[in-house]
Amino acid sequence: MVLGKTIHLHNSTKAEFLQNTRWVKHELCHVQQFKQHGYFGFLVKYLWESLKKGYYNNKFEVEARAAEEL
Ligand SMILES: [Zn+2]
Repeated sequence: MVLGKTIHLHNSTKAEFLQNTRWVKHELCHVQQFKQHGYFGFLVKYLWESLKKGYYNNKFEVEARAAEEL
């Protein structure tokens, strides 16, 4: 997951992460979202979206999944 400009990896190494281009694009999209909405603004909006729509349909996740295809 991303907090601000830092990508936190769980149960995987940096090398594994960097080999997975789609995953890198996904997480970089979240970094952009943090920049766009501001640190706390993004966290609040992200949580609100998740509560309203669930993780999968959260618009920030939809956008990050679309970024994987680029
Ligand atoms: Zn995501």
